[in-house]
Amino acid sequence: MFDRIEEKVRAGERLTPEEGLYLYQEAPMDRLGPLANWVREKLHGNRTSYIINMHLNYSNVCAVKCMFCAFRRDKGEEGAYEMSMEEMIHRVAPLKDVPEAEVHIVGGLHPDYPYSYYPQLLSTLKEHYPQAHLKAFTAVEIDYFAELAGKSPAWVLANLKEAGLGSMPGGGAEVLTDRIHKKLYRDKMGPQKWLDIHKEAHKLGIRTSATMLAGHIETYQERVTHLVRLRELQDETGGFLAYIPLRFHPENTPLRKLNFMDSEGVLRQVAVGRLMLDNFANIKAYWVMSGLDNAVKSQHCGANDFDGTVVDERITHMAGCETPVGVTEERLRNLIREAGREPARRDALYNIIEVPVAG
Ligand code: SF4
Repeated sequence: MFDRIEEKVRAGERLTPEEGLYLYQEAPMDRLGPLANWVREKLHGNRTSYIINMHLNYSNVCAVKCMFCAFRRDKGEEGAYEMSMEEMIHRVAPLKDVPEAEVHIVGGLHPDYPYSYYPQLLSTLKEHYPQAHLKAFTAVEIDYFAELAGKSPAWVLANLKEAGLGSMPGGGAEVLTDRIHKKLYRDKMGPQKWLDIHKEAHKLGIRTSATMLAGHIETYQERVTHLVRLRELQDETGGFLAYIPLRFHPENTPLRKLNFMDSEGVLRQVAVGRLMLDNFANIKAYWVMSGLDNAVKSQHCGANDFDGTVVDERITHMAGCETPVGVTEERLRNLIREAGREPARRDALYNIIEVPVAG
């Protein structure tokens, strides 16, 4: 079957869900990785893009309890925190003079904050750092804000865009099937709503990313369903900037007894994503969750982006993740060179803005 898939990929033909399932379950990694790499090099040559960014997780107080989440706390519980506006302004200060830097803002569904807190957060940051790109709020947060505001998600998105929203991250998709939704995160919005909110965002010209959180109780069939649903929406809107496969970290969650996805599993996720998502230009290796070593290897299995300097990520680290909370730009470039690729700095919309000279 691999020969037929290879022929189709090289001819630019779309793979079927059955072929996707085969790639997950049976395809030999020593053929799958190089084929995904072929597509990646066809689109991006030898370049690997990266971004100078920072994560701002404004609060971990959350009104719901997803089974896979080690980040959330109840208000007043040990480890719960709420960043003040001043603290956030202070944290973003290192990016003040960095053109095209991205601030990635996500947090828990805070039970007490009014809707007005969120546009205010964006406009305050924009006022202090007008050059920064604010990539903020997952579809799950948008859905919650709509409830708080008593408005539609489309209204909320338009309102946040006016306040400074530049693009949206891809979190909250988890695995886009009703079974996983019921089992792991029934208190928050389900798969169809996640897709609908991204569609609304795309209609408003807000570009977004898409993730898949895998390596827990999902089946390979469910992973394929997820990829096909993303591919269909991308056919319709073209609004996704990138696909980001996320590796589930079970430590400190109720699912802690599950095995941690191994390195081959991480690389297979990247490669199958590249081959199935034929209408996504960018596949990102998110080193915070995959590990730096796998992010390096991913650059030969379909990934063309290495995210990012990150700085102060909290969500995955509260799940026991042992990667650093950030890396310097120089380290990032060196890691990309270690992968045999040419580093190229990008902006939040994946435009290349600088190709640094080695040395
Ligand atoms: S994943 Fe998000 S919505 Fe779910 S419990 Fe964690 S912080 Fe709350």
